[in-house]
Amino acid sequence: MRKVVKFGGSSLASAEQFRKVGEIIHADQERRFVVPSAPGKRDADDTKVTDMLYACYDLAVEGKEFKEQLKEIKERYQEIINGLSLDISLEEEFKTIGKNFKDKISRDYAASRGEYLNGIIMAAYLGFEFVDAATVIRFDEKGEFDANVTNELMRERLNALDAAVIPGFYGAFADGTVKTFSRGGSDITGSIVARAVKADVYENWTDVSGFLVADPRIIYKPETIETITYKELRELAYMGASVLHEDAIFPVRSEGIPINIRNTNAPEDKGTWIVESTCQKPKYVITGIAGKKGFCSVNIEKDQMNSEIGFGRKVLQVFEDNGISFEHVPSGIDTMTVFVHQDEFMHKEQKVVSGIHRLADPDAIDIEADLALVAVVGRGMKSTRGTAGRIFSALAHANVNVKMIDQGSSELNIIIGVANADFETAIKAIYDIFVLYQL
Ligand code: ASP
Repeated sequence: MRKVVKFGGSSLASAEQFRKVGEIIHADQERRFVVPSAPGKRDADDTKVTDMLYACYDLAVEGKEFKEQLKEIKERYQEIINGLSLDISLEEEFKTIGKNFKDKISRDYAASRGEYLNGIIMAAYLGFEFVDAATVIRFDEKGEFDANVTNELMRERLNALDAAVIPGFYGAFADGTVKTFSRGGSDITGSIVARAVKADVYENWTDVSGFLVADPRIIYKPETIETITYKELRELAYMGASVLHEDAIFPVRSEGIPINIRNTNAPEDKGTWIVESTCQKPKYVITGIAGKKGFCSVNIEKDQMNSEIGFGRKVLQVFEDNGISFEHVPSGIDTMTVFVHQDEFMHKEQKVVSGIHRLADPDAIDIEADLALVAVVGRGMKSTRGTAGRIFSALAHANVNVKMIDQGSSELNIIIGVANADFETAIKAIYDIFVLYQL
């Protein structure tokens, strides 16, 4: 068995946290490939090292003095090195970083040093080989992650090793220029490593005991999800549920490798299993609820729209021409509504309105702002009658007006549009009816 273990920033924020990580790795010989994040927050008021690096590099770009800020970052690492009584020095590394910052090398390079340095410490602490992610994770000329080249490079390198530490979050172009994934991207690195070594499981260690049925900022102590499929997770992650980066499932999905979300501070908890498919029945009809605020609906009316072939294409063409992606397009006989992200749409709204008039010649266009989308996701909904009925009666009882309903034929999710102001009430009403009253 081979396990790839990725540890998030809060799991590596201090020497004390490093020690917990060391115990977890040593407790299981199969945990052989380790992907660390940069040190995260030690407490609520602390700053993540990645954010410190960004801020420090911004000073360098403005031509301002950044020595003090870089020293503070160095101290964060030194504290960990001292706390673990390691016999290593990052002196030379910081000299190089300082020089590269002065030369305004790149913001991605700056941010990547958080993981890079933590990887060096982790490798020394565990006695594992350090593999710089810049040598094994490749981006193409367009800046897109190159899955195939990466898989070859990574496989070749790691197959020759018994155990290794590969820092998360970054890779490089063919010429060695460093590039990062988007924030939280160490989750993606872990998944890439798991694919390359054909791991039996990708363990993603964080500071919660798994994926929650709903956002704990809205629901008091929500239930943990025991097992969730890649597809369900994708729906929930896209709709704002955090824990794992939304792109992290792609590499492991192609190999059917399960992901196990675990808690560094409670390693005995089983966490959440993310799998391709399962015969395990979900505990509740729904697996999870997530959602996002800040949408706009553009409502387009035209008499006899139903018989005008190409009307929908023309409308969507205008959104495409303006570089706006749409979320949902529910339609009636003489109406069509396009849901878009408000912040993407706002400064282009009049261009879009006149563009639709010009291209599709509608009778009227009406824009409604401040809407939220709520996604109710669950593989259990497929075979259960009455799920939609329960959702909408719960919302009606909670006095929430439903503005839009969208259910794909996969029956994996139901998306509901409500006013921003009703967002939390809607989530609570749905959670209560499906989880709380079923407990
Ligand atoms: N350190 C990076 C961030 O803060 C990447 C990660 O932690 O996954 O976004």
